[in-house]
Amino acid sequence: MNLARFPRVHLAHLPTPLEYLTNLTKALNGPEIWIKRDDCTGLSSGGNKTRKLEFLLGEAAEQGADIILTQGATQSNHARQTAAAAAHMGMDCHLLLEDRTGKTDPDYTSNGNVLLDQLHGASIEHRPLSPDLNTELEKVADRLRSEGRKPYVVPGGGSNPTGALGYVNAAMELVTQANDMGLCIDHVVHATGSCGTQAGLVTGLYGMNSGIPLLGIGVRAPRQQQEDNVFKLTCATAEKCGCPGVVKREDVVANCDYVGPGYGFPAPSTIEAIKLLARTDAILLDPVYSGKGMAGLIDLVRKGFFSKGQNIVFLHTGGSAGLFGYVDNFGYREAAAATA
Ligand SMILES: *Cc1c(COP(=O)(O)O)cnc(C)c1O
Repeated sequence: MNLARFPRVHLAHLPTPLEYLTNLTKALNGPEIWIKRDDCTGLSSGGNKTRKLEFLLGEAAEQGADIILTQGATQSNHARQTAAAAAHMGMDCHLLLEDRTGKTDPDYTSNGNVLLDQLHGASIEHRPLSPDLNTELEKVADRLRSEGRKPYVVPGGGSNPTGALGYVNAAMELVTQANDMGLCIDHVVHATGSCGTQAGLVTGLYGMNSGIPLLGIGVRAPRQQQEDNVFKLTCATAEKCGCPGVVKREDVVANCDYVGPGYGFPAPSTIEAIKLLARTDAILLDPVYSGKGMAGLIDLVRKGFFSKGQNIVFLHTGGSAGLFGYVDNFGYREAAAATA
């Protein structure tokens, strides 16, 4: 897997740290829990999309693009990191933000990631919930081309084989780190949404023959659909990397029991996980992705899915900027009003 063959720009602070979660491990009294800090990729408060954008914007620069288009939910971490990456590259950025929640709380509509999109100079078009925003993006791209611009379209979540290369690279980085530390990883767990993170990781982990199983915790789709989508992107990613067929369908595993009320709506277990990590190891999770991923890990530890003595790595995919769009989900305002 020779990733240096692909165009790339360097946007992330790499390697991200691999740390032991002392307090969470103690609190849960199960396996040893480690964290891979992709919340610390550095660009505009960090997150997993930055690794994908290194390869996507590398390709955009090679094609001479002058404007980057992408789409996501209102509080999209992907949109925020894309806006930041485009600014860094001296390119314009245009975002289609889809209203997937119907929330009207001003924090949701204008704070958190939305504030940062604007600070990075992106232009924003709001869209209602739509069946296929990636097709909408192509329409906007056609319009811009007719106006003489050179748009580059990044699909939602940066999840295509080019973006997934960022997580093939992350898998190699993680295995090298663990080797150097003498750490034998038994399982990697992370939040899975638009599939690029899991597809890249599983391609890298199996392409290296690491023997490390991967579990994605779903944030939107039901299990079968999530696994099928991840597997489809995995096949295309492995092909791009020159190792077609290296991942079998059964190597792609998702658990979608922690979605709660739906995409963009934290479940009680999401809020519990966010509060627990903030108070134990002082790690900030997010209400849409990493909070659900960690809720899944915590519940699986409590149910004895992992055994004592095993080393479990939680890949922290970032998203803490989203906390400021979800203040109303934590109950602190009501508590403050009650004591005022
Ligand atoms: C996008 C995102 C994910 C999911 O990654 P995918 O590659 O879309 O599956 C997980 N966590 C955070 C914080 C994200 O922004």
